[in-house]
Amino acid sequence: MSCPFCRSLDLAVRNFGTGKTRQFHVNCHNCGADGPLADGTTEAWALWNERPNEPQRGDGTPPHHSN
Ligand SMILES: [Zn+2]
Repeated sequence: MSCPFCRSLDLAVRNFGTGKTRQFHVNCHNCGADGPLADGTTEAWALWNERPNEPQRGDGTPPHHSN
């Protein structure tokens, strides 16, 4: 899978907190895009793949522009 914003493959799951408060999200190392927070790595990837292709901080070339 690749980043929907910059098409980079340099993605990783990062986690925050500890124990029951730990949350995960996918982060793109290339453009800095962050995926939705989830309770686990599997969910984090699922949410990342489900998210709409909306412009975010990145290189300024969103894949789609709906108007
Ligand atoms: Zn990216």
